[in-house]
Amino acid sequence: TRHSVMWFRRDLRLADNPALLAAAEADAVLPLFVLDPALWDVAGVSRRAHLAASLRALDASLRSRRTRLSVLRGDPVEQVVAAARELDATEVHVSADFGPYGAERDERVAAALAEHDIELVRTSSPYAVDPGSVTKGDGTPYAVFTPFSRAWADRGWDTPYEAPRGLSGLELASSVDVPDVDLPEGLRLPEAGERAAAQRWETYVADHLATYSDERDRPDLDTTSKMSAHLKWGEIHPRTMLAEIGRASGAGRATYRSELAWREFYADVLHHRPETAREYLRAEYGRMRYDDPGEGFDAWREGRTGFPIVDAGLRQLRGSGWVHNRVRMIVASFLVKDLHVEWQHGARHFMQWLVDGDLPSNQHGWQWTAGSGTDASPFFRVFNPTGQGRKFDPRGEYVRRWVPELRDLPDGEDPHEPSAAAREQVGYAAPIVDHKEERVEALSRWEEIRR
Ligand code: FAD
Repeated sequence: TRHSVMWFRRDLRLADNPALLAAAEADAVLPLFVLDPALWDVAGVSRRAHLAASLRALDASLRSRRTRLSVLRGDPVEQVVAAARELDATEVHVSADFGPYGAERDERVAAALAEHDIELVRTSSPYAVDPGSVTKGDGTPYAVFTPFSRAWADRGWDTPYEAPRGLSGLELASSVDVPDVDLPEGLRLPEAGERAAAQRWETYVADHLATYSDERDRPDLDTTSKMSAHLKWGEIHPRTMLAEIGRASGAGRATYRSELAWREFYADVLHHRPETAREYLRAEYGRMRYDDPGEGFDAWREGRTGFPIVDAGLRQLRGSGWVHNRVRMIVASFLVKDLHVEWQHGARHFMQWLVDGDLPSNQHGWQWTAGSGTDASPFFRVFNPTGQGRKFDPRGEYVRRWVPELRDLPDGEDPHEPSAAAREQVGYAAPIVDHKEERVEALSRWEEIRR
């Protein structure tokens, strides 16, 4: 009899999982997850909590198929090899990881398995199109989004795969429990797992996909899909979503597809340039003068800058592990251009709290705002937080939702720019900087690196 291991990582689902199908061709399969301290111990509380819940959900669906998820803790190089040897498996199946850490880890695991004549088989990846496989005619990677997205769509993807029918499961004697993760007070996260992902997607397609392009910039309406955390953990595969988008109608679907392409583009960029997880993609921005993170950075992290939409975004981050895309851009711009703090500090804070925290999209979302990214927003276009608030949250509903002080403002006060007296009355901070002055300061620092 032939035994295999299905090593789950960022593909916590049974449906549309070709690596699982490949593993299930063996006579019996061990469904395995390894809690890697190198990842677990540094992940923020939101991601740890989501992952734990997702592993429980995966275990529950495996149990309904009369098997279970075995969980080990430790360095995957040792743990995966030990598990495969314990069950005399000849293959370990994964979906390929293209992240800087994951790709290198998989090389080490493959080498360690090979010493025991066990093969690491990579089938598919968390993307519709594997990073690195869309290239220009001369074989070099795309540096900007639009031509990438055209070539990406031309390349195309498979139709979704069914879940395996039967699954003859193996288990380990030494499986550990999935840890309980206590959430800090005030943080509430949405449900995790494959079923929750499928339900959210189904509801979203029915209710909001058609109007996505009109409403996606409006944090007050809250009508984006919130699929990001499900995608991050592979509780759904983009293939499944793209197939559904292909069947839907309405103007929103092309825009939505293009957002999924951004996710794939950033994964491709990080695959080719792994150092850009930390370093400036456009090196000249590394020469810009920045300030050390100080009191302003503390106020930013805690959502008390005195700019309502900035504070709402940063409180939404710590209250729900998620922030609307428009507001991610606004708070990021504020940190880099009003407080003159390097993007890496903000990116780290995001990774600490985001439930969808994902290296390529996060680091390159930040680089975009900082002016140093691929299709970067030109540095001289500095977001005015008050104007952005008025435009994208016209009735102030979003800022009132996340900054409760603003609910008590006297009539006639602008929730995006309350008067000094009104701030005092409701106990809301005065602006920590003068936006006009800091804009001028940011532009003069930028002029220095252009010379
Ligand atoms: P929707 O608007 O419904 O979009 C659908 C899907 O498309 C998203 O789930 C996501 O997978 C993808 N997508 C949408 N916009 C982008 C984008 N700009 N870049 C890449 N993919 C996109 N996204 C993350 O998944 N993880 C992150 O850590 C992350 N950090 C970010 C940091 C900054 C500073 C910025 C500006 C953006 C960041 N994004 C990140 C991208 C985007 O903000 C989120 O994907 C989006 O807000 C998730 O909400 P949603 O699922 O409702 O999005």
